[in-house]
Parts: sequence; C-alpha cells; structure tokens
Amino acid sequence: MDGKALAARVRARVADDVAQLGELGLATVLVGEDPASAVYIRSKHNAAREAGIAPHDHHLSAGTTEDELLALVAELNADDAVDGILVQLPLPDHVDEARVLRAVDPVKDVDGFHPFNAGQLYVGEPTFVPGTPLGILALLKEYEVELKGRRAVVIGRSTIVGKPAAMLLLAEHATVTICHSRTRDLPAHTREADVLVAAVGRPATVTADMVKPGAAVIDVGINRTPAGLVGDVDPGAAEVAGLLTPVPGGVGPMTIAMLLENTVRAARFRRGLAPFPRR
Ligand code: NAP
Repeated sequence: MDGKALAARVRARVADDVAQLGELGLATVLVGEDPASAVYIRSKHNAAREAGIAPHDHHLSAGTTEDELLALVAELNADDAVDGILVQLPLPDHVDEARVLRAVDPVKDVDGFHPFNAGQLYVGEPTFVPGTPLGILALLKEYEVELKGRRAVVIGRSTIVGKPAAMLLLAEHATVTICHSRTRDLPAHTREADVLVAAVGRPATVTADMVKPGAAVIDVGINRTPAGLVGDVDPGAAEVAGLLTPVPGGVGPMTIAMLLENTVRAARFRRGLAPFPRR
C-alpha cells in the first residue's frame, strides 16, 4: 500500500481547500531538543507550508515550566489566526502531559488527543481523530479492503495509535481484537486477522508465520536501527500478506496528510462553514 502516493493526493486536496478558505494557521509547540521530535515538527511545517497553511512555530527550551506551557496554549486558544494546535509529544518529564493536552481547545485539537475528542470517538459522535489511525483507515479504504464483518487485530493500545485505530475499525463494523504486551499467544490472534495493524515500536514483532495468507497488514512502527528505519513487521511477511504498508512510505506520510486535513476541518468549523467534524 503506497502511503506516499495517497498522502500526495490528500495534500493536493487540502491545498485546494486552503486556497478557497484563505489564510489558515497551524500552531506547533515543541519543548526541548529531542532529535526525532524536531524531525517530525520540521516535516509537519514543510507539509503545512506546501499546502498553503501558515505554521506558527513555538520552540521552547527543555526547562520550560508547565505553567509557561499552559499560558502559551491559552494564548494559542485565543489567537484567531490559529486554526489548529499541535503539542509535540513526548513532553519533558517535569510537565504533566495530560494536563497540557486537556488545555488545548477541543475545536483546535487537530491531533485529536483531547479527552473530549477521544470520548466523542468512543461514543461515535463528531470529533477530531488522531492522524495516524485516520491515515490507516484511509489506506484501507483506498485499497478497497473489506472491513465489515472481517477480523481486525490491532497490536498496541496507545491513545495515539492503537486504541483510536481499534475504534475506527469497530465503527466500520470489523470484529476487533486489541493485543498488547500482556497478550498471551500473540501469533494465535494475528493468524486470525484479515486486517492486521502493528503499532508496537519493536522490529519484527510480526513475522511471516504470524500473518494470515492474503491479509491486509498495516505497519505503523518506526524503529531506528543500525540498518536504517524499519517497521514492526518483518519484510518476509510480504510473501504471505495480500497487502502491506512499507516503512518508510506507508503510514508515516499519511499521518501528516491527515493532520493537514484536520486543520482544514478545524478552520471550516471555526468559520461557521461546517459542523464539528465528522470523520
Ligand atoms: P507506545 O505508546 O509505546 O505503545 C506500544 C504498544 O505496543 C503498547 O500498547 C504495548 O503494550 C504494545 N507492545 C509492546 N511490546 C509488545 C509485544 N511484545 N507484543 C505485543 N504488544 C506489545 O507506542 P505508540 O505511540 O502507539 O507507537 C507505536 C509505534 O508506532 C512506534 O514505533 C511509533 O514510533 C510508531 N508511530 C508511527 C507513527 C506514524 O506516523 N507512522 C505515528 C505514531 C507512532 P502495553 O500497553 O501493554 O505496554
């Protein structure tokens, strides 16, 4: 499954929408010098700029206090030029991450991390959904993978990927199993999966013998190894899977494209042009 190509099409659509809406702003908040976070923020800025969305870059020192961070978020909530707010995770240990995420106005929460939006997803109401699970669903739809009544197995239960991905698959009427580090006999679960999502952060968590022949396999993992960037799925699984997302070039580019799409949704809502986003 070619996430790079689909992401390019989504981004072109976003650029068209932005051209109609006028100036859009995406505020990003980065605290500290984590190199991976800096790379992610740079890619998000570049993608936003390319689509005509103005990035509002807030890079704070690692010593920034929680109160200072909360004050900045309050400022961005009130700033009319800001349509979407993204707080890059992880935050330093001395900051209560949940408290900061709760401070973001849910109507500008383009990452979908606010408990209000997570709750809306849970009850099936309009919401912002995080970009990665949205990207996973968009890829499955693009490749016309049947979800209704099929077995979907999600490995990973984070609030960023695993849980919202499971919720989206459930909303599509798949029969969903969520696996995690305490799951017994993981291969017995994965071998049942028509759709398998691996969001673990450990290379070769899924090997060829764990994949049902013909299954659609989504590899969310991004692991930096001496051999370069690899996912959670061993490349050998390609021999068995019907469809597989590459790493890089699969879910990663989709995550950023969906973030931009969420920013357009936020802008439409704030301008009174659309109701609170439905996915
Ligand atoms: P996370 O918060 O660390 O969650 C990892 C999940 O994997 C946890 O639920 C954990 O179980 C489970 N797990 C760990 N070891 C396992 C094992 N041996 N067997 C089964 N499950 C196991 O990570 P995350 O934020 O969800 O991210 C997961 C991966 O996706 C990472 O590689 C991350 O870099 C990548 N990612 C990629 C994108 C993208 O755009 N492509 C976006 C976000 C994340 P417990 O809950 O029991 O600990």
